[in-house]
Amino acid sequence: MATNRTFTMLKPDAVRKGYIGAILEQITASGFRIVAMKLTELTVNDAKTFYEVHKERPFYNDLVEYMTSGPIVAAILEKENAVEDFRTLIGATNPEEAAEGTIRQKFATSISENAVHGSDSDENAAIEGAFHFSGREQF
Ligand code: UDP
Ligand code: MG
Repeated sequence: MATNRTFTMLKPDAVRKGYIGAILEQITASGFRIVAMKLTELTVNDAKTFYEVHKERPFYNDLVEYMTSGPIVAAILEKENAVEDFRTLIGATNPEEAAEGTIRQKFATSISENAVHGSDSDENAAIEGAFHFSGREQF
């Protein structure tokens, strides 16, 4: 996958609260093109694999439970400098520390239920995108 792509999930709290449209509007208005997108749900195994890097952290089990608590929107996004620019757009992990106007500042519930995922590197963006989408689902 090209390095101008990132991967995102609108997490279960954001979907439950009806924020899909508002968040997608902010993403596309910020210059990201939607390459692939679906409403889906993570299995417990999916969530464990996706967040395996955090498996020794105290919040791991709660994170898996939360991420499997309802549907998510998974998407691949394209823009110059996508990974870094998208992390800037979503803001800090803890919404109380997220900059004014960022997606997490506006839509997150808490540090755990923080509305949106953004890949942290080009390498992970490619792995995470391929986890959810085949080549023919990417446009
Ligand atoms: N998380 C949590 N408690 C924490 C830190 C993280 O519940 O103290 C959750 C939160 O949903 C976060 C996810 O674990 O988005 C992954 O954590 P990471 O440090 O990778 O944050 P992110 O890259 O999502 O900003
Ligand atoms: Mg992370």
